[in-house]
Amino acid sequence: MKAEVVGVGTELLMGQIVNTNGAEIARMLAEIGVGVYYQSVVGDNRDRLAEALETALERADVVVACGGLGPTDDDLTRETLAEVTGRSLRRNEEWARHLEEIFERRRKQRRGLSSEEDYPFPRNNLRQAMVPEGAVLLPNSRGTAPGIYLEHEATIVVLLPGPPGEMRTLMREEVLPRLAQDLSARGEGGVLLSRVLRVIGLGESRVAELLEPILSGQTNPTIAPLAHLGEMHLRITAHAPDEETARRYTADTAAEIRSILGDAVYGEDDTTLEAVVGEVLAERGLTVAVAESCTGGLLGHRITNVPGSSRYFRGGIMAYSNELKSALLGIESELIVREGAVSEPVSRAMARGARESCGSDLSVGITGVAGPSGGTPEKPVGLTYVTVADDQGDECRTFQLPGDREEMKLRTTTVALEMLRRRLLSRASAGRAATTS
Ligand code: ATP
Ligand code: MG
Repeated sequence: MKAEVVGVGTELLMGQIVNTNGAEIARMLAEIGVGVYYQSVVGDNRDRLAEALETALERADVVVACGGLGPTDDDLTRETLAEVTGRSLRRNEEWARHLEEIFERRRKQRRGLSSEEDYPFPRNNLRQAMVPEGAVLLPNSRGTAPGIYLEHEATIVVLLPGPPGEMRTLMREEVLPRLAQDLSARGEGGVLLSRVLRVIGLGESRVAELLEPILSGQTNPTIAPLAHLGEMHLRITAHAPDEETARRYTADTAAEIRSILGDAVYGEDDTTLEAVVGEVLAERGLTVAVAESCTGGLLGHRITNVPGSSRYFRGGIMAYSNELKSALLGIESELIVREGAVSEPVSRAMARGARESCGSDLSVGITGVAGPSGGTPEKPVGLTYVTVADDQGDECRTFQLPGDREEMKLRTTTVALEMLRRRLLSRASAGRAATTS
């Protein structure tokens, strides 16, 4: 079952609006086991729209086109579909009456508000009641443009209005149930289920290398690796006749991947690193504090994005200037002068200072060169020192991170959270070793 989503609109083509409908439609189709093989975008131009629809009809079993069902002259999707499929347009009398009622109501409302006498029914709007021969009209409870559902030869074509709320309602209420039914009548469809494993601390190529035996020859489930600002996301997608079977497929593959990658898998689906770290801290009754320089409070921001973080987050010190590093974190100014503000000793001193002044069990110290200027040959842009400290001492790691200023800040907080997670993991195994020996 191959589906194609066609976005219609010159604004989409020119990037004035983002094609969120395309992404949403693809996700909804996946729920009923329909995979999107193509996405195309075409402007409000009759010839090019005809060409896009013809191509889609040829290569896909399900075509969902979205946009261009409005009443204005540049809204051409309905007419063009009729033309391409060689069908005439017929007026749906029920929807025409519905439209006239809507306008009658608006006219009355307006009369009360303005002195102008009359608002004639815009005849152009009746175009929205036109339906290609043989098609089903899908009533739109949120707007004047109905959807259209047409089985043309072996292909199912759906037209939806562009406004996201209307598209969404029609997809949920009308299109998905109809499609699921039509596809199962043809012995097609099923469930397409995805699950994401979130991996940290291993590069893209290392992950590919480790998973080579699973990645090669995968068909169902499929595994899609996606690099994501210092993390790797592995999307496992299974296709099965029913949800239970699909779940079993993805669970088996997830278990296989976890057995290879081990602790590098920190969570699944929408879990974040900060949430995972927070959960462990809360579980063990530990607290954390941060001292941040180049990340400007971003680590504290990410930690506090997790609901309930007050259970384990003591707070932080955003010490950007050298004076504040001394005044608030107790770092001797000679140390800063001798080593430089961006240095391992200062990073360590920041973490220790935060732990002391905030009275936390663990702490993080971050100092680095965020750029784009301020780098030197010895200390280039992207150089960062991150320290995690606790009662067992402090560990500092040096990173050379890529990206612009904002990206560098984000990546720095990610490695800091990962160092915290690692420290918590090693504390746990040390604790276990102590109790079992
Ligand atoms: P209308 O009756 O409002 O004219 P329409 O079916 O003609 O509806 P368009 O004119 O193409 O739809 O789009 C209307 C609005 O819907 C756009 O201005 C935009 O805000 C939104 N929209 C359209 N297509 C998309 C899309 N693919 N992704 C996100 N938003 C979209
Ligand atoms: Mg329009």
